[in-house]
Amino acid sequence: MIYNKLGKSNLKVSRLGFGTMRLPTINSNADIDEIEASKMLEYGIENGINLIDTAYPYHSKELDGNGNSEKFVGKFLKENNYRDEILLCTKSPSWLMEKKSDFDYYLDIQLDKLQTDYIDIYLLHSLTVPDWNKVKDLGVLDFLDDCLASGKVKHVGFSSHIEVDYLIEILDEYPKWEVALTQMNYLDEYYQSGVMGLDYLKQVNVGSMIMEPLRGGRLVQNIPKEIRELWNMAKVKRTPVEWALQYLWNRDDVDCVLSGMTSLDQVKENIKIASKEDTISEYDQELIREVARTYRTFLGNRCTRCGYCMPCPHGVDIINCLTEYNIAHMMNDPKASAMQYFSLIDDDSRADSCVECMECLPFCTQMLNIPEELQKVYEYFGSEFDHF
Ligand code: SF4
Ligand code: SF4
Repeated sequence: MIYNKLGKSNLKVSRLGFGTMRLPTINSNADIDEIEASKMLEYGIENGINLIDTAYPYHSKELDGNGNSEKFVGKFLKENNYRDEILLCTKSPSWLMEKKSDFDYYLDIQLDKLQTDYIDIYLLHSLTVPDWNKVKDLGVLDFLDDCLASGKVKHVGFSSHIEVDYLIEILDEYPKWEVALTQMNYLDEYYQSGVMGLDYLKQVNVGSMIMEPLRGGRLVQNIPKEIRELWNMAKVKRTPVEWALQYLWNRDDVDCVLSGMTSLDQVKENIKIASKEDTISEYDQELIREVARTYRTFLGNRCTRCGYCMPCPHGVDIINCLTEYNIAHMMNDPKASAMQYFSLIDDDSRADSCVECMECLPFCTQMLNIPEELQKVYEYFGSEFDHF
């Protein structure tokens, strides 16, 4: 295993972190196959992984419920005496906070589920701009100060899918951030905070953790013929997982890549890759860019995310509605995109809030009939998440 320093936290982290949102299950998403999942975690830790990432809602019945991932991780670490060997990362469910005391209320529930009295890395989970403004008004920064002073939490940060300007704004508002978890893979260099966000994290020495390195597995499953043909042209042959992970580890602004693994074979494969020094040549870097360009030709519409149509007077988040629809087509994975669509876009900003006023039409740089495109988005995703 290769280890990196996690920004100014000075923590030494395995460059592969164990994400626990996609553990093997038996019947439903909430029903973790604990025997199999324990084998995976044990193998991971014994072979060098020292960071486990979980969150309040992972493996719950509903999208945002009280999940079983934290409970399982806590039980596993306790029963196997691993707690002090690993860095435990979990997340505060920002969207559930209604008053200041809620921060402590949820943290105490999480400490209880995790059977520990401290959390190594505590992230505000999936901050959207409205959630950030809300938790700030509720006093989240005082809460984080108190957590650090009491030792309940050793290092603080946040996870987010926001655009780079907002990421920078949040980073600049609190000097004690030590870690940020953002989405990145070779398709997403200019999506959400992307490469510009990573560059800023490096400048301010905030540790960078990466989510969705395989785009929820879509960069490695059901690979279209056109993409397979491109990979065959590489100077150095790599598996699709190697391409996706080594692309990230070839960057000097990535400290730890979280992978939500589902089987022991995946854990073994990822650890093997994470333990190998592998420099990607300029020729193969260009090939990766060509693969990304080719994936983009499978998009569902021509939206370039330029933003000229925004803001919609009726609150529709046009950009992200069209983007999640595009990604669903590009990756041929409606479930993964539906999870993003329903968790990242507020109820009253989804495609079904469009009233067809047509005010956005003159602004579209791609001449899209935006209400028609939004109708397609609505027909594709529906009005509620029912993909479990
Ligand atoms: S047509 Fe729909 S998306 Fe466009 S401005 Fe009107 S409500 Fe907003
Ligand atoms: S103006 Fe058109 S291309 Fe630009 S973000 Fe809006 S819908 Fe997409």
